Amino acid sequence: MRELIAQELEQLRGRWEGTPLEPWLAVLPTQLAQGFSSARYGDIPRWLQALSTLPKLKVDAINMSTDRVGCTGAVTNSERDQLTAALQGLHPWRKGPFELFGCHVDTEWRSDWKWNRLEGALEDLAQRRVLDVGCGSGYHSWRMLGANAEEVIGIDPSPLSNLQFRAVQHYLHQPNINIFPLTLEQMPSQLRAFDTTFSMGVLYHRRSPLDHLIDLRNTLRPGGQLILETLVVEGGPNTVFVPPNRYAKMGNVWCLPSPVTLRGWLEKVGFKNADIVDINTTTTNEQRTTPWMTFHSLEQFLDNSDPSLTAEGHPSPIRAILTANAP
Ligand code: SAH
Repeated sequence: MRELIAQELEQLRGRWEGTPLEPWLAVLPTQLAQGFSSARYGDIPRWLQALSTLPKLKVDAINMSTDRVGCTGAVTNSERDQLTAALQGLHPWRKGPFELFGCHVDTEWRSDWKWNRLEGALEDLAQRRVLDVGCGSGYHSWRMLGANAEEVIGIDPSPLSNLQFRAVQHYLHQPNINIFPLTLEQMPSQLRAFDTTFSMGVLYHRRSPLDHLIDLRNTLRPGGQLILETLVVEGGPNTVFVPPNRYAKMGNVWCLPSPVTLRGWLEKVGFKNADIVDINTTTTNEQRTTPWMTFHSLEQFLDNSDPSLTAEGHPSPIRAILTANAP
């Protein structure tokens, strides 16, 4: 792992010097060492062991703009079994789907559905430097690269998500996509380096949602596009639901604004052209238990007798996608 990181940093130095990302190079080595520290995360050695058993296989074609991100290539049954076992060593797989050499990683989420809902609202990603905040396994980051972004950087504090990305990258081997184990708050502030920034599924985990929006704004160059996706509730201007305890069995949910409230927050912190592009009720077809995520999922998080309510009796999950431009 240490060697891999050293190599990666070398490549990044070559690419980032003289760009607005250069200041990040000063802190990134320490951030990577901390984010992948086995002393901090006891499961890392087990996951690295799984990664090291990925078979060496020859890739024929790479798929980054299809529902299932991955690659094709001829493999024997025993190679596919070895691949499946190695990938299963990185259970639970939440965001996907992926397909590598005929092995379909059927993740908890059909993240491709979210991509389909937002794709039409994107400013063309060609020539753009893109940031994916809270990228999880990097599923959407791959789709951004597939949509011709020049460079994609994902950040996510979960070491398992980072290693799942590395399992896919082991085969897709694309130089201009990286995922780092850190939070938005740990990024150098005021980088203003990105043409497009995504924050999807993160805002409701933040205790200070307006500070999250300000941090996102500061990642963008003037005029850059933000794509924001989060849980919302029905309601008008200034409606915000703060769950008194758990929400859909999640303990770390803070503020669920209505879509128009969220648009108002974007305007309040200086974004221009704030627009609600999609509102969608999450179904148990989109988020469900699978062989790649065997724990409880949305079905168990909702009221047994009334799926319009969560297990706690709150309105069940609705998600909105908004776009806006940095001032
Ligand atoms: N963006 C993906 C994944 C959403 S899950 C999607 O929309 O499908 C939310 C992710 O945000 C988790 O993987 C979690 O580790 C990450 N996260 C939580 N707090 C964060 C923070 N402060 N900065 C960046 N990522 C964060």
